[in-house]
Amino acid sequence: MKGIKKIHKGYKNILGRCETLCFSCRHSTNKFNACSWASRLEPVENWDAIKHDIIGQKMINRVMIDKKIESYFVVDCPVFERG
Ligand code: SF4
Repeated sequence: MKGIKKIHKGYKNILGRCETLCFSCRHSTNKFNACSWASRLEPVENWDAIKHDIIGQKMINRVMIDKKIESYFVVDCPVFERG
């Protein structure tokens, strides 16, 4: 898997853990300049990302229901800007 090799070579945080590129990108937090992923949850064209669904929870009629949420671990992105 192409993405896995890149993760282990590069994108590590200050604790040495691999993390998605979005955590260090200015477009993930700046609401006036957010990318398509940060603003509308639409994948960025030509990004290199590993899809992995996560399980969230939602309250319906006072009952917590597990809900599958589409998510991505971004390895490389043409719109990325450190920030
Ligand atoms: S790395 Fe790409 S997908 Fe992630 S926040 Fe930045 S621009 Fe958006």
